[in-house]
Amino acid sequence: MFEGITRGLSEALRKLRGRGRLTPENIREGLREVRRAFLEADVNFHVVNDFIARVEAKATGQEVLARVDPAEQIIKIVYDELVALMGPVDPRIPQRSDRPVVLMLCGLQGSGKTTTAAKLALTLKERGRKPLLVAADLQRPGAVEQLQTLGRQIDVPVYSESTSPVDVCRHAVQAAKRQLCDTVILDTAGRLQIDQQLMRELQQIDNLVQPDEVYLVVDAMIGQEAANVAKAFNDALELNACILTKLDGDTRGGAALSIKAVTGVPIKFIGVGEKLDKLEDFVPERMAGRILG
Ligand code: GDP
Repeated sequence: MFEGITRGLSEALRKLRGRGRLTPENIREGLREVRRAFLEADVNFHVVNDFIARVEAKATGQEVLARVDPAEQIIKIVYDELVALMGPVDPRIPQRSDRPVVLMLCGLQGSGKTTTAAKLALTLKERGRKPLLVAADLQRPGAVEQLQTLGRQIDVPVYSESTSPVDVCRHAVQAAKRQLCDTVILDTAGRLQIDQQLMRELQQIDNLVQPDEVYLVVDAMIGQEAANVAKAFNDALELNACILTKLDGDTRGGAALSIKAVTGVPIKFIGVGEKLDKLEDFVPERMAGRILG
């Protein structure tokens, strides 16, 4: 994961380490390389500039320059700023006693939404909850059958009916109550691109079903474009969090590092493989550690 940025960063930081005492010029030069590594990793331009400015302001302070190990101090600053860039994130999934918790997943077609719905159901089941998967993607051919197959694999019930997406979601909450399920996961329809009709349909579901949390499933392979997608969905739906998929692939880091800074919406889970047990909590500290190598 993120090999390019890790290589670029460790190279820049290794050079700083090799110098012993540092001047503000040395630091600026080192941070220019850090900046280049970020841009090559497809991190949003404004995010990179703000990040570098923050690190530089802290790294060129007298306390750092006067130390015998300034480079270590700068690495710590970069780490802390990476954590701040991607966090904080609340890892909890809400619980309630009056009715089932409703989690609405949305996202573009092919982002991994249906797979992620099943992964999330499995995660919740392993945490002792009783999820109900809801096949509300009546747009993509085969999506309903796909969810039913995945549900069978993890032994989680799947609610479906061939009416309208809004009715499926509404009735599913009733079905969850009857089946004593405590968490409803809505797999809504996506489109190849963001369009008004999609957003209206999602807003309608959002208004009528009042989900407790709305998560955007977004493909890390699209890099910083993920932040633009998240912004558009957040404008329409007020997202609680993003789930970043396909981080096991050849991704450069642009999505993971841009989304929170551009939209204010944190990443809560990451998909790291096609199999259903390949969903992890997103922990900014762990990700910052991975990026720094
Ligand atoms: P949807 O159209 O958004 O519902 O997308 P799907 O759930 O059908 O997923 C599209 C493709 O992405 C499928 O081939 C999934 O197996 C794959 N996929 C989903 N999540 C991940 C992931 O975290 N890693 C990898 N490598 N593939 C994933």
